[in-house]
Amino acid sequence: MPRITTKIGKGYRVTLPEAAREALGVRVGDYLTWIVEEGTVEVAKAAVIKCPHCGFEAPLEGFRLVRKPWRFRFYTVRRLQCPNCRKVFNYYSGKAPSGKVVEYVTKGRA
Ligand SMILES: [Zn+2]
Repeated sequence: MPRITTKIGKGYRVTLPEAAREALGVRVGDYLTWIVEEGTVEVAKAAVIKCPHCGFEAPLEGFRLVRKPWRFRFYTVRRLQCPNCRKVFNYYSGKAPSGKVVEYVTKGRA
């Protein structure tokens, strides 16, 4: 397990070390999700969500949350509005009992 030190530059920019890029499976233009919990930071490749109405793609932050997320089985369901076509849809994400991370979108009620 490589341990790599990088310097933080202006604007808090850092270079993502090659070993980290490979481990995360990310390329230039991809998004990262930073999970900050109890003093530790976990970094993951951000899921890109595709609007089921128009095909617009962005990470979760690119869509507007139109109501408080709710739970459905092992999923967290977020009702999102697309900034491109302004239509709403449901984004399901969660960890299945098998440990597999599952996510999908449905058009939901119009
Ligand atoms: Zn759309």
